[in-house]
Amino acid sequence: MPNLYLPGASILLSLFLVILFFSRKRQKNKDTKIFQFMIVIQLLESIVETIIYYIAYTSNNMFFIIFLNNFVCSFYVLWVWLFYRYLFYIAYENKHKYKFKKLEKFEFVLNTIAIVIIFLSPINIMNENGVMYSYGMKPNVTYIICAIWFLCSIIVTLTNIKNLNNKKYIPLWTLLSLAGIIFAIRTIDPSIIIIPFALTFINLVMYFTIENPDVKMINELELAKNMAEKANRAKSDFLSSMSHEIRTPLNAIVGLSECIKNSDDIEEIHEDANDVVMASNNLLEIVNGILDISKIEADKMEIIESNYNPIEVFKELTTITETRIGEKEIDLRCNFAEDLPNTLYGDKGKLKQIITNMLSNAVKYTEKGHIDFNVNCINEKDKCKLQIIISDTGKGIKPEQMDKIFNKFERAEEDKNSTIEGTGLGLAITKSLVEMMGGKILVHSTYGQGSKFTVFLEQKYSKVEEKAKVVKDEKISYSDKKVLIVDDNKLNIKVASKVLSEFEFNIDSADSGFSAIEKIENNEHYDIIFMDIMMPKLSGVETLKKLKEIDNFNTPIVALTADAMEGKSTKYIEVGFNDYLSKPINKQELKRVLNKCLNGNIEIEEESTPKEDPHIHRVIPITDEDIEMLNKKLTEDLARVKKQEKKDN
Ligand code: ADP
Repeated sequence: MPNLYLPGASILLSLFLVILFFSRKRQKNKDTKIFQFMIVIQLLESIVETIIYYIAYTSNNMFFIIFLNNFVCSFYVLWVWLFYRYLFYIAYENKHKYKFKKLEKFEFVLNTIAIVIIFLSPINIMNENGVMYSYGMKPNVTYIICAIWFLCSIIVTLTNIKNLNNKKYIPLWTLLSLAGIIFAIRTIDPSIIIIPFALTFINLVMYFTIENPDVKMINELELAKNMAEKANRAKSDFLSSMSHEIRTPLNAIVGLSECIKNSDDIEEIHEDANDVVMASNNLLEIVNGILDISKIEADKMEIIESNYNPIEVFKELTTITETRIGEKEIDLRCNFAEDLPNTLYGDKGKLKQIITNMLSNAVKYTEKGHIDFNVNCINEKDKCKLQIIISDTGKGIKPEQMDKIFNKFERAEEDKNSTIEGTGLGLAITKSLVEMMGGKILVHSTYGQGSKFTVFLEQKYSKVEEKAKVVKDEKISYSDKKVLIVDDNKLNIKVASKVLSEFEFNIDSADSGFSAIEKIENNEHYDIIFMDIMMPKLSGVETLKKLKEIDNFNTPIVALTADAMEGKSTKYIEVGFNDYLSKPINKQELKRVLNKCLNGNIEIEEESTPKEDPHIHRVIPITDEDIEMLNKKLTEDLARVKKQEKKDN
């Protein structure tokens, strides 16, 4: 009887492995899928190979032996390929999340061709005293293709050398050492049928080191734990830097307010009050920045699109920048493309925020020289591709700091920049906003010479023409109107009264929803009501509902709240408020709300917005070709301008 103990044992072990593997719940990862094919193929290979040896030793029917040999050779090819695929997956696809679909397809085609050749090519088999030798094209093709995949496994492992001590490479080490052992055994005693057993053994090693569901679960749990710890650390870091950032302006506000309280010198009070306003604005900027960052990170930032006049927006930003430059010896040079459309449709607020951040940085980090604010565009059939370039002759950024500047709370040269106001949030927000809008931001900088920030953005065309609005800054008086401020916080009532008194209102206040309702029920008449939202016992929304139940009550009510999340305005209007203002009150916004509620003037912007669902926002990412095209167009434009300048001279 032939020596079939080892192939027999390999059938039993493979069967045991298949049953064990398929009887337990397992994950549906790609590596697990590959492994599942490996063990099935190995079981089939062990069975077929045992049958071949059995026939060889009993009837020696060459037809069957050769026929079955085709399958054994194909199983070898597939097993070694899957083994290489397994290593490839853990080395590249899983780690870097890349997909190598084309390569996989190519390998699959190669295997199919190899298997067809295996089936078609000849084989010579010699069967002498229980030892079977085969030679010819069939085994040669099998060895060559197996050697290719084996070599690929080694290349994959070596190119991923950093992770060589990773537990997932244990099967490769087993295979390498077993290859040597197999070679030695076959040389010493060719009658020992070792290959199926060796392959099964590798499958077993793979199962007990990596593919066992328990081991996998432990690994997954460890991964989840590490991620949770990382998230927790990030949260703590965020909180500690946030409290540091907030404390700095707060310290100035508290300290200077104390000085104001104790001082009699009007000039000094004025100066301190100015600094308090500056520190408060800085604090507000930080709070808004933190709010923006947390909204972006929570995926809650929405794109709110409307019509806008781009030139008007850019000019407005220019005026603000000129004010920011103040006494500094900086020349602000603006150049907006002549073919910019009159009206675009997009998120004007975010566009302004992006440009403002870059322009204010240019002003902050430049002592003298010039700032160039250029806007270039390519008008395509259905979209306008904007290229916004802001360059300065400021201090520049060191190449090694380049990566850092887009991280939140990170500032380049922290020590040298300590005298320059900043939170390190601006560029992190800018980059996120640009990417949210499907655009790109690039930075070039030479340390000591200046920086250039370029933003590529796509905006849609509007269906209606947006006329440039004339900004009237005349004094508005509502001396014939009476206003009610409802807020449980006395300080908030005081601040709101001060802001509203500039419009010469008759002001009344209520410290709760109940007191407001009482006033209305006692037939007090108001032209407008400003209502805080978060009030104890009766919230602003509940007060509004109760007020609306009163007969003949039709006074406009404006929600006034510190809850400044974007998108909340629509929520307040949906529950019945006439409009919404966030604290601290922005005067421009207040003017708009008063104009709307008391004069019935609704902004053109709202009327002209095309009937398109604002939530459906198609982000078309800017490609590298677009950037190249825009750069080309810009270079051509610049050359044209220079030529013209030369001609003029
Ligand atoms: P910050 O509030 O500190 O200005 P940003 O996120 O806007 O925060 O910018 C991050 C860092 O990038 C800044 O601290 C500064 O070091 C650097 N930076 C940004 N813009 C410029 C610029 N135009 N010139 C030089 N450095 C700049």
